[in-house]
This record gives sequence, structure tokens and C-alpha cells, in this order.
Amino acid sequence: MLIVGGGVGGMSCAICMRRAGMRVDLVEIDPNWKIYGAGITITGPTLRALKTLGVLDEVKAQGATWNGAYIFTRSGQPIQELDIPPIADDLPGTGGILRPALHRILSDRTLAMGVNVRLGTTVESASQLPDGVDITFSDGRRERYDMMVCSDGISSRMREQIFPEAPKPKFTGQMIYRIIAERPPGFDRTHFYMGEDTKLGFNPVSSTHMYMFLLEHRPDYRWVPVEEQPQRLFDLMADWGGIVPEVRKTVMTTNAHTINYRPLEAILLPKPWYRGRVVLIGDAAHATTPHLASGAGMAIEDGIVLADELSRTDSVDAGLARFMERRFDRGKLVVENSLRLGEIEMHHGSPQEHTRIMVDTMTQLRQPA
Ligand SMILES: Cc1cc2nc3c(=O)[nH]c(=O)nc-3n(C[C@H](O)[C@H](O)[C@H](O)COP(=O)(O)OP(=O)(O)OC[C@H]3O[C@@H](n4cnc5c(N)ncnc54)[C@H](O)[C@@H]3O)c2cc1C
Repeated sequence: MLIVGGGVGGMSCAICMRRAGMRVDLVEIDPNWKIYGAGITITGPTLRALKTLGVLDEVKAQGATWNGAYIFTRSGQPIQELDIPPIADDLPGTGGILRPALHRILSDRTLAMGVNVRLGTTVESASQLPDGVDITFSDGRRERYDMMVCSDGISSRMREQIFPEAPKPKFTGQMIYRIIAERPPGFDRTHFYMGEDTKLGFNPVSSTHMYMFLLEHRPDYRWVPVEEQPQRLFDLMADWGGIVPEVRKTVMTTNAHTINYRPLEAILLPKPWYRGRVVLIGDAAHATTPHLASGAGMAIEDGIVLADELSRTDSVDAGLARFMERRFDRGKLVVENSLRLGEIEMHHGSPQEHTRIMVDTMTQLRQPA
């Protein structure tokens, strides 16, 4: 088995394939296998998937967990309190962690499971055979595999090669700023602040820190140069209530060089996500915006379900067909409903519809993957 891309999806798949007794090579294009320093929310279904991978205790120890969210107006007036009940007795309702911490936990587990990880390497070309794939790597080596799993993210080169007719990722109209800040006293759960067409939120990521995101409606996609980002974010954070003013003070000082700014993009590859002996998982097949904080969770579930289905049958075709049956509607639900939430935020839609979509989707995702 060859896995292309060592992000959350690829690593989860590798861990489960090894557990099922398969030999796994994983190639990752980044020679340093690094990840940027933002925070990530891990919802109940994602925590359940991390438990299946056997890393829940480490995630809980290094991250933060809680069971609810407060929604405020821009000025900090409470609108609603949401309860986020755990999916199972041994799981927290929801959680957060720094991306590098999650990456380290998963990469340590990947290596400990005996996955053969080759960094700074990618696939140059892949030729389908009746019962496998013939791969030429960027370092010139050639090898034959029974199957190739492509988990190379939203800008997947593998998707372009295997599905040249596939849609391209599309900008949705929102830009996101993210920073890390110290948790103020009493901050123990998600805070969302709903502006006119801007949304701002905080999530704990450890016992001491939280991350903040700000979603700006920017339909014209004008990139803000790095040196102007602190001032731009500082301006966008003016006149908000609650804990925003305190965090705003860090934007021009301690956070001036750590702002993570990027456009929101999405793509949903029509089914099936496989062709011959090549299958796409995670963002390569279904990249979403962060409105439901579920993209990484979906990528992890893909890896778990793919290994599960392939280990249940001697027929790769049957395993891939079953994988698709279990994954397509769930991936589509997250992408489409995340896009709808973004639309509501950008176009002053109904806050009631926004909350309803969030609650309905999270309720559906509580069903087994
Ligand atoms: C702003 C933002 C916030 C988000 N917040 C959340 C959140 O709170 N919760 C959540 O669950 N999800 C969140 N997501 C979604 C989540 O980040 C993604 O869904 C998740 O990272 C997808 O995992 P992946 O393994 O499919 O892809 P990636 O994480 O992108 O990993 C792809 C890997 O493949 C490697 N690679 C790329 N090309 C090649 C190649 N040609 N050959 C070999 N290797 C290659 C890359 O270096 C990388 O290591 C967010 C996304 C965004 C944009």
C-alpha cells in the first residue's frame, strides 16, 4: 500500500492499515514534515475517531476539552448558550489542540506502527495495472503497489493526475485570520461573536492557550500583504465586546509575526473518489471551510473507514465501493452545510437558520462514521 501525503488523513489511514497487517509506505513532499502553528477544533465525532486511532489520551493531555459554546452579539451581549453533549460516556463533548501538537501525536504513532515514511518525496507518475499501480517517485525509484491512497490535501496533484476533469477548489468569499492567545481567567469553552458580515470566535487549545479566528467577507479576494496583516486585523477587531479588546492588544505586539491569514476554499469531488487502484481521501476529495470544524475529522474518518472496508474483503473493488457508500454522503453534508453557513454569514442571513444548520449537522455527524 502506498499513501501519498502525511497530513491527518494520510497518517490516520497509515496507522489503521498497519493495524490491519498491511505493509505501508507513506511519501510526504515536505522534507521537514512540518505544520503551521494554528489551533484546530476537534468535535465529538473527531474525538471518537482519535480514540479509534488510540491517541485520545494524548490529545486530551496536550489539548483542551469542554462541553458547550456561548454565542454573543458583536458587542458581547449573550445570544445563546449551546450545550455540546458527549457522544459517549468516555468522550468529552468537544475539544481543541494546537495543530503541531496533533501532528506530533499522529506522526509519532505512525512511525511507532512501522509505517515506512519517506520525507521530501512525491509521486512523479502512476500507471494503472489490472491489479495494482506502477509508481515512479521523484527520487527516480520505481515500485509496484496493490493500491495508492492519495491524501495530498486540497491542492492535490494526485487529483489532477488521476481525475483531470475534476473541479478545482473554489474561493468562497471569506478570508480567515487566526492567532493564538493566552486564555483569560474563566474562559472555558467556545465563544462565537456574530458581526454584520464578520464572525469572530475563540476556542481553547491547551490548559493555557486558545486560538482566535476572524472571518472577513472579502468577495473580491484581495490579498493583504504579510506586513499589512497586523494593522488590518487590528482594525477589524475594533469595536467588538467581550474578551476581544484584551486579545486585540496582542495583535500589534506579541502576535504581529504569527498571524495566519488565508482564503477559504472548498471542493467536493463527485463520487466515486477512486479510479482503478487509486483512491482519494481527506481534503483531496472533499475540502471544506471551517464552519463546522470537521474537515480534519472527516479526513481521519476516511482513513479509518478505508482500512476497515479493505480489511473485510479480498476484493479491492468491493472494499472501495463500500468505502464510497459509507463516506460520500457524510463528506457532502459537511462541505455543503459549511458553505451554507458561510453564505448566511456573508449575506446577513437568519441567525436562527445558522444555529439550526450547525446543530442539525452536528447531530447527524454523531451517527457512526
Ligand atoms: C482555516 C481552516 C481552519 C480549519 N479548522 C478546522 C478545525 O477546527 N477542525 C477540523 O476538523 N478541520 C479544520 N480544518 C480542515 C482541516 O485542516 C483539513 O480538512 C485537514 O487538514 C485535511 O487533512 P488532509 O490530511 O486531507 O490534508 P492536509 O492536512 O492538507 O495534508 C496533506 C499532506 O500532504 C502533503 N502533500 C501535499 N502534496 C503532496 C504531494 N504531491 N506528494 C506528497 N505529499 C504531499 C502535505 O505536505 C501535507 O502534509 C480547517 C481548514 C482551514 C482551511
